[in-house]
Amino acid sequence: MSTDTPVTETAVRDVVIVGSGVAGLSAAVYTARADLEPLVLEGPEPGGQLTLTTEVENYLGFPEGIGGMELIQNGKEQATRFGAEFTHGTVETTTLEEQPFALELASGETIRTRALIVATGASARWVGADGEDELMGYGLSTCATCDGAFHRGDDVLVIGGGDSAMEEALFLAKFADSVTVVHRRDELRASDIMAKRARDHDAIEFRWNTELFEIHGSQADGVTGATLVRHPDGHPTAKLESGEVDRETVDVGGIFYGVGHVPNTEFLAETAVELDDAGYIRTEPGMTTETAVEGVFGAGDVMDPDYRQAITAAGTGSMAALDAEEWLETRNAVAPAAQPVVEAEAEAEADD
Ligand code: NAP
Repeated sequence: MSTDTPVTETAVRDVVIVGSGVAGLSAAVYTARADLEPLVLEGPEPGGQLTLTTEVENYLGFPEGIGGMELIQNGKEQATRFGAEFTHGTVETTTLEEQPFALELASGETIRTRALIVATGASARWVGADGEDELMGYGLSTCATCDGAFHRGDDVLVIGGGDSAMEEALFLAKFADSVTVVHRRDELRASDIMAKRARDHDAIEFRWNTELFEIHGSQADGVTGATLVRHPDGHPTAKLESGEVDRETVDVGGIFYGVGHVPNTEFLAETAVELDDAGYIRTEPGMTTETAVEGVFGAGDVMDPDYRQAITAAGTGSMAALDAEEWLETRNAVAPAAQPVVEAEAEAEADD
């Protein structure tokens, strides 16, 4: 099938990749080079989390770093060059009980595929502070590993009280002059060991029962400050009307959200694909991307609550592609060319 085949045609694909972040793109390059003519569905956050960051300095092969958006654009061009097809589409529900799998999109369209690679990622939670839409990527970040090195000598805030926030604070303390962890309660959710490391660090301090209310700055100047709110019983933004909330303005050069991630797996909720308690796809133990449903593979952050790096997502994307290719070969399920469903069904009936 050529890359300009309209996807409205109900053809059975060999591989559909849901998600166009670095994991989906890596899976697209590999499956396209294996002549599987993958279709990549770009969802509500095309390009994934990397498009929210400015420079990526820790992706192997770019000694001067590369813009997050540029890395994604390059990946898309690379996959397209080998025959991957891209289309916008948000999967609302999936039917995985029988072959071919059916993906129902928000547009009402149904796409059918033999193998499915889920690379829908995890979206970083945002806290809802004023100014965050404008300043995300301009001094406001959800990834200290990606953006921390731009804050040498700055005073920075980390929002959150879990392991991610402690990890971000410890990482940022290598570069920043001071790191202030802003937590909405007076007790950390983080594991004891991570909490102790952060508490014991000279450059890290804590603001308890405090939340970020507003971020100051501009896209030209970056983040310049923040308004924090505090209530002695915690969760101050919920108590703004009470009259007991203190407000304080602080000068900071960077703000990092570490309030958790939400894996984008809602569309798998009613399927046999196993998810963990937080909603991440469980893959089979060992070096595999196989899920509890044969022919469905997980790649990138949607199956990885721990590493969550661009390079690891690219790695699991390539693994999912190789696993899918092998699965298709083993099942001898690779069709000579994408076939209209009606024809495929007629052929199956004739075989009976
Ligand atoms: P998490 O454990 O869910 O913690 C999220 C933190 O953000 C909580 O402290 C929460 O406050 C706060 N928060 C959530 N929404 C907020 C909002 N709107 N405004 C202000 N604060 C908000 O998430 P996580 O830290 O990303 O960790 C997720 C999982 O990954 C955990 O199992 C963790 O152990 C694991 N992890 C492990 C490591 C490691 O071991 N190196 C590193 C990172 C993550 P409350 O406490 O009040 O709910």
